[in-house]
This record gives sequence, structure tokens and C-alpha cells, in this order.
Amino acid sequence: MMKGIVISSRYGVFEVDTASTILEVKARGLFRHQKKKIIVGDYVTVDEETLTIVEVEDRKNELIRPAIANVDRAYVVMSYIEPDFSPYLVMKFFTYLNYHQITPSLIVTKMDRCQNREAMEKWKDLLKGLGYSTFFLSTKQEEDMKALKEDIQGKTCLFLGQSGVGKSSLLNTIFPKWDLKIGSYSSSLGRGRHQTKEVLLLPYEGGYLADTPGFSSLELELTMQEIQENFPGFKPYIGHCFFKDCIHVHEKKCALKEAVEKEQYPQELYDLYLELTKEITEDRRKLR
Ligand code: GDP
Ligand code: ZN
Repeated sequence: MMKGIVISSRYGVFEVDTASTILEVKARGLFRHQKKKIIVGDYVTVDEETLTIVEVEDRKNELIRPAIANVDRAYVVMSYIEPDFSPYLVMKFFTYLNYHQITPSLIVTKMDRCQNREAMEKWKDLLKGLGYSTFFLSTKQEEDMKALKEDIQGKTCLFLGQSGVGKSSLLNTIFPKWDLKIGSYSSSLGRGRHQTKEVLLLPYEGGYLADTPGFSSLELELTMQEIQENFPGFKPYIGHCFFKDCIHVHEKKCALKEAVEKEQYPQELYDLYLELTKEITEDRRKLR
């Protein structure tokens, strides 16, 4: 028996990275009967005689789209410009990841084109105050690249971002020949780069980097309750409002609004929360 991690999955064939080798295996019938779906990132036990997965460990977290389990860190990749940096989207992504119990960090690319360093440093400080790291990158200068490379070591890392933010450039910098690697990976599985919908894990410095093609925009399919529980930095205030189901907008005796007044919770971030709740209510109204 060997333990390993599922690094690719296609039509019931899985590649499992064990400490010594990568095995191509199938899942035992038992899992199919249990309707237990094995996904990339799963820690499994493989019987090397029959080349079948005989056991799947409980997941510490999982996402459905992209389908991936046991993510140690999700890097939300945003560009300073083209598309414009949006603190609103940062908070939206972070809320989504918090809900899924995945620790987020922020990467801002194209900082060589930054005209307002101070404003960007301000967002970085605000996030740092809530315990989140931010990395400023640019293809023209080193900046935080070294720190980022150190940060990703030994972890299963997921990179999320809209197209055009410089995700491919970044991954190619971290992992030279990234495109080639992904390309050969895909063709060995009998498909081209652009047909790849599944997540792939690439071994990197004792951990893994996840390639997530097709993940562009994000539908926040959370209830208002789930959003207020997972919005960055809200945790310490949850359960301290007068109303049990307080969503911290119009309610009286709201612990969160008091924290904003006392400058314990940043006004700028609270404003983004209001924007998010507004968008959610409008979306729901449209659906009716
Ligand atoms: P992706 O769609 O997120 O994979 O983005 P790409 O890596 O293809 O990059 C989109 C565009 O942004 C390309 O024209 C890149 O050359 C450019 N770009 C990426 N990173 C940087 C950067 O740090 N600075 C500048 N000035 N341009 C960048
Ligand atoms: Zn409240």
C-alpha cells in the first residue's frame, strides 16, 4: 500500500503522486457505489498490485468549481491595471474562500504601472490588519517575488483570477516552462490545453501548484447569513449584535457598526461589505 495525492483525474483514471513515483490508477468499485467522487487534491491510499485507490482521507476543504480538495492557500491574483484593481472583488473572493475554509492571500500584478503606490499600500495594510498577506509583483522588477516563492513552498496552492491579470506570466516566472509542462500534461491525457477543464496539480518545491483554466468570474452563491459570517475580519463580532440574525446593515445595537464607529474595524472594508450585500439583494430580486 502506498499513500499519495491525486494530481489529475480524467474519466475514472487518476494520477497519484506518491513519495517515490507517479502512478496511474483507478478507483475501487466501492467508491463508485458510495457515489464518493475522488477529486484532485485528495489524499489516497493506493494498492500498487491492482493499481486501485482503496482509501480516501477526509478532506480539510473542497471547492466544486474548480473541483479541488485540500487547498492550503488560495492566491487571489489581481492586476493593478487592465483590468483595474478592485478591492471589492478582493473582498468577494476572500469571503468565498473563507466560507470554504481556505486561507486566501492577495497578489497584485503589473505594479510597474502603478501610479498611486500609497493607495495600494493602504489596501495592503488594511488586509494585513486582518491577518492576510499581500504580494506586489511586476514582470519588470523583482519586488515581492522572492517572498511569494517562499510562501508557496510545501503547500498546495491555488491561483484564482480573471483573465488578463497576468496569471500565466506569473506562473511561468515561478515555474519556468509552466506552459510547456501544462501542455505536455494535457496532451499526455489526450487533449489540448484549451479543452482542459479539470484542475491539474504540478509538484513544486515540496508542494503543488494548481492550474485552474476556465475560472474567470465568480458567482457568490452564498446566503446573506453566510456572507456576513465569512466576510474578512467579521468573525470576532459575530454573535455580539443585539439581533441574533443581524446582518450589520440597518440594525440597531450592531457590534460591527460600533466597531466601525470606534475605528476598530476599517470603514473602507465595511463599505465594501455594504456594496456586496447590495449586489446580493439586487441579484436575488432579479431572480424572482
Ligand atoms: P492571464 O490571462 O491572467 O494569464 O494574463 P497573461 O499572463 O497572459 O498577461 C496578460 C497581459 O498582461 C500580457 O500582455 C502580459 O504581458 C501583461 N502583464 C502580465 N504581468 C505584467 C506585469 O507585471 N507588468 C506589466 N506591465 N504587464 C504585465
Ligand atoms: Zn450586527
